[in-house]
Amino acid sequence: MLGQMQHHPLRIIDILTFSAEAFHSQGITSVMEDGRRTRHTYPELLARTGRLANALDRLNLQQGDRIATLAWNTHRHFELYYAVSGTGRICHTINPRLSAEQLVFIFNHAEDRAVFVDPSLVPLVAELRTRLSTLDHVVVMGGRADLPSDARDLLCYEDLLSAAPSDYDWPDLPEESAAALCYTSGTTGAPKGALYSQRATVLHALMVVAGHPQSLRNGRAVLPVVPMFHVNAWGLPFTAPLAGMDIVMPGRSLDGASLYTLIEQEHVFTAWGVPTVWAGLLQEIRSRGGPPGELGDLVIGGAAAPRSLIAAYEEMGINVNQAWGMTEMTPVGSRGLLPPEVRSASLDTRVDAQIGAGRRLFGVDFKLVDENGNRVAHDGQTPGELYVRGNTIISGYYNDPEATARAMDKEGWFGTGDVATIDATGRLIVRDRAKDLVKSGGEWISSIDLENTAVGHPGVRACAVIAVPHPKWDERPVLVIVPEGDARVTLDEMHRHLSDRFARWQLPDDILFVDALPMTATGKVSKLTLRQTFADFVLPDLREE
Ligand code: AMP
Repeated sequence: MLGQMQHHPLRIIDILTFSAEAFHSQGITSVMEDGRRTRHTYPELLARTGRLANALDRLNLQQGDRIATLAWNTHRHFELYYAVSGTGRICHTINPRLSAEQLVFIFNHAEDRAVFVDPSLVPLVAELRTRLSTLDHVVVMGGRADLPSDARDLLCYEDLLSAAPSDYDWPDLPEESAAALCYTSGTTGAPKGALYSQRATVLHALMVVAGHPQSLRNGRAVLPVVPMFHVNAWGLPFTAPLAGMDIVMPGRSLDGASLYTLIEQEHVFTAWGVPTVWAGLLQEIRSRGGPPGELGDLVIGGAAAPRSLIAAYEEMGINVNQAWGMTEMTPVGSRGLLPPEVRSASLDTRVDAQIGAGRRLFGVDFKLVDENGNRVAHDGQTPGELYVRGNTIISGYYNDPEATARAMDKEGWFGTGDVATIDATGRLIVRDRAKDLVKSGGEWISSIDLENTAVGHPGVRACAVIAVPHPKWDERPVLVIVPEGDARVTLDEMHRHLSDRFARWQLPDDILFVDALPMTATGKVSKLTLRQTFADFVLPDLREE
């Protein structure tokens, strides 16, 4: 027998229309590129989003068209999230820190028809434009004064909005419709697209609000330091309005001093970002002698947070909550909500309990498997590759059957490439990474891509990239080379060789020479052995003179 309940498709735009009504005095404060701060309430943001939706129609962009963004965290980027998805188009956020090669690949693979770009990134689009084969419109996210003087074929965001009405009749879309697209680094080089649906995005928002009662508190302010161009800023543009929170969008300046001032002046209660950012803020806190204003909660994710970092914040009375997730998971999969009995325990006990990635969110299932795909026990001891399943997890990569076949198992679970343990109480600890990637400051560097390009240098017979821990960036890449004959390629030469394909921050920090690379039983380079061999290696910028 079926239940007798109505069925309405889940739509992203309904989060904003709800917040504009229920939380009408809350909204977004944004730091703009010139340092000015602007403030818009949710009703004002809904009106501007309606204008933007009308403007998109006037640009003759069809439902299903991919609309790219190259932008920092601001209210305009937020408006694009809602207007693009609300009209049935697909909001494709792009990471401006990637190399020109990677950007061109991503634009053309997604077949973006328009790009909305922050003023400081207009030169980047100008440099790439002739190679972007499907692009019809470039819209500069600012007013007239933000346009360059030779802006012949550039459109102005605020002009488009002023010319359009604010009322918009949001279409009824099937809830499975695509709403947003985000590329992640591939272990084999080419980036891969996660295509989020309306349904997955709304369910994710509900799941995260339910899973973060300590952080997502009604009436408080949240600071998303995690970028909106990467994994939907961990869903905060959806969860914060749903929970009735103010959002403080930090713009471009993410150094400790800028964040300290912003947190203090805007009364931020909870701040979300990668460990690198919180290490920077910690330095600033130490130099100023105390934490800023009302900061009471940190959500740290994207990489494992070191114990010392967690302990330093907990000691100041700031609750630390580690989250784990992936682009392919919309992205949050677990969070470090402490069991009630531990919350008032001693500092040491609390910090111990905060190591690792917490416990799964409702709606996300975990399983650990061995190399043959067989399940291993969730006993807190036995490591296995973590597979995930749920309504907020991709069923495949966008237009990439090969990557899809590699990632999904026969039962339809998605393989995360993380090696983890899970104990009987569901506590997840990520132990290692099966995927061949280096994560620096929250952003990926593909080892295989670097290796394939480095080996093209005449002085290199074979090579491998390993991740070396770094206190600021979490990890940095180092290139291990088996030289060709007597050749000893210098770091500068190698950087020149790699610089066409990689952004500067993706280049290796050092080169190590070996006679041969260690191999596994299956004939692959054993990165584990290499990491052990060079366990005492100190990166150049950390060496004491
Ligand atoms: P991304 O798709 O860029 O969000 O990266 C997801 C990956 O980042 C995961 O598969 C992990 O390898 C890593 N990661 C994210 N959060 C954590 C965490 N709390 N601890 C350890 N690794 C993490």
